[in-house]
Amino acid sequence: MQERNGGCLCGAVRYTLKSEPRSIAVCHCTHCQRQSGSLFSFNLVIREADYQQSGETVVFVDKGDSGHPVHRHFCGRCGSPLLAKTALMPGKVVVKAGTLDSMEGLQPQAEIYTDRAAAWLTPIPGAARFARNV
Ligand SMILES: [Zn+2]
Ligand SMILES: [Zn+2]
Repeated sequence: MQERNGGCLCGAVRYTLKSEPRSIAVCHCTHCQRQSGSLFSFNLVIREADYQQSGETVVFVDKGDSGHPVHRHFCGRCGSPLLAKTALMPGKVVVKAGTLDSMEGLQPQAEIYTDRAAAWLTPIPGAARFARNV
């Protein structure tokens, strides 16, 4: 097991992942695009018990395609998106992997919401593709 550390751009929020992620996926949905200001989220799903945080996040309650609330946590100082929690995945957190100190060894297993992906992006080698959610 490898611990991984990460945090927001300004350093006010830091976290440690105490286990390897359960799944690793790129999400092209329009909410991930908007909250990141970019093309997609690089998401790690990990047990909530294995996520340790120092510093406070601010929470925006978003509504996912499923109609269920998605609690999006970000740094209230620098705005970096750090994680999301959804009732669809109780006991799990979705960590925004772009906030890790190192993404070494993290290869996406899946791409979801590919029907929203930028047309000029090529598929990621070895990743399963789903037009919507898995
Ligand atoms: Zn910050
Ligand atoms: Zn998404």
